[in-house]
Amino acid sequence: MALLRVRELKRHYDVRLPGGLMGRRAKLKAVDGISFDVEKGKTLGLVGESGCGKSTTAKLVLGLIPANAGSITFDGKPVTASHDAAWRAMRRRMQMIYQDPLGALDRRLPIADQIGEPLVIHEPGLAASYRRERVAELMAAVGLRRDQAGSYPHELSGGQRQRVIIARALALSPDFLVCDEPVSALDVSIQAQVLNLLEDLRAKNGFASLFISHDLKVVRQMSNRVAVMYLGLIVEEGPPEAIFHDPMHPYTRALVSAIPTPARRGRRERIVLQGDPPNPVDKPAGCPFHPRCPSAMDICRTTPPKLIGHGPRRVACHLHDDAPETRLIAAE
Ligand code: ATP
Ligand code: SF4
Repeated sequence: MALLRVRELKRHYDVRLPGGLMGRRAKLKAVDGISFDVEKGKTLGLVGESGCGKSTTAKLVLGLIPANAGSITFDGKPVTASHDAAWRAMRRRMQMIYQDPLGALDRRLPIADQIGEPLVIHEPGLAASYRRERVAELMAAVGLRRDQAGSYPHELSGGQRQRVIIARALALSPDFLVCDEPVSALDVSIQAQVLNLLEDLRAKNGFASLFISHDLKVVRQMSNRVAVMYLGLIVEEGPPEAIFHDPMHPYTRALVSAIPTPARRGRRERIVLQGDPPNPVDKPAGCPFHPRCPSAMDICRTTPPKLIGHGPRRVACHLHDDAPETRLIAAE
């Protein structure tokens, strides 16, 4: 059974739009019925433009915000945002790495204290000497020097701060990491080092992860499967080789065509999408991608396509309605 199992998950927000005295009330469908599995020790990459619902998915999976509908199970147990003892026990097994390491760290505390903080909270009986040793091990594992233990976050570089965040996330030996844009705030030259570190740590420690990024190159490097999101929906999901070498959904094709790689130069033309993603408050009827889709047909304007298994992947697009269907994830 999958370690993380998400079924028909929805998160809608009540928002007020400009107009009238108080503004018009409307529903913003940030996540609008997504289903996926993450197997033990594997990484699912979640990719899509800004505002498609990636971070909302991360918060739902960790039980930081409640869902409006659908279910999440972690190791067979339901994940809710109840913040009770069961949730706390589960949260020590599921940790998060954030985009902005400085914002996630306490400026007034030396980094060793911050790395050891989860041990103080979750294992208060641990001897101080053992905790110090464990923090030293964690610092070494992420490539921080022992003599940096007393440093404050502002004394470190962006890459080193992200290493502190990673060490803290690993303090309790989690089974699952949610990485939300973990390198997008770093210099390009540092990004590769942090990604390689995450890969090494995953190989050594065997944790599974949900890896969120708007950058397809990064997602390709880090993931065993990739899910492409558009306006709160998964439109294509499958192994990276299939997604990147032979994308089936027109949106994935456009994203992949924009990756600047020497191998692709001259072979596939860049598909330039017209317009920005529509507002999730006023989602287009039918296929939500139809106003920007170069292949849109009449049916696309009226009937939402279902996410259907084709070979090793799932695709939501009427262009593939005739292809034989495969069942890739259990119905519930
Ligand atoms: P980004 O990379 O820019 O963070 P994202 O793909 O992670 O984008 P989300 O942050 O999940 O997207 O946001 C999805 C949609 O939900 C956006 O339209 C966003 O404005 C909206 N949204 C997120 N949080 C709230 C909230 N608390 N109240 C109202 N709308 C929200
Ligand atoms: Fe384009 Fe239609 Fe496929 Fe949507 S369903 S991606 S509009 S062809």
